[in-house]
Amino acid sequence: MSMDRGVIESKKDPEGKNKERIYCTFCPSKMLNAGAATFISMDFALPYIHSKVQDKANQSETISDYWLIEDMYTFENIGVSHTVGNVKYLACADCERGPVGWHDLSTKKSYIALCRVKYE
Ligand SMILES: [Zn+2]
Repeated sequence: MSMDRGVIESKKDPEGKNKERIYCTFCPSKMLNAGAATFISMDFALPYIHSKVQDKANQSETISDYWLIEDMYTFENIGVSHTVGNVKYLACADCERGPVGWHDLSTKKSYIALCRVKYE
């Protein structure tokens, strides 16, 4: 799943950084300040946001547009939901909904899906 190019372009500055602050879509928790992440286009299968529908719990969707965060300490707030192999799934630190992205334990880089966060 890829976002509309126009939408992506409107979210990044000329250097490919996020123009706006990034928030959780479910609560007012701020995850990143403007300019803290860099746009990257890559395919990664992210499990669906937890819902009450049990049979969707283990399904995932391939998302192609991410914000790359080089250093975990760049986050204003971020939580971790669960770890699978080398991947730690990231969730909201306050309401714990997610995953909104993932952290690679071998490279220490984090990725937040453009379509799973809110901008202000
Ligand atoms: Zn939240």
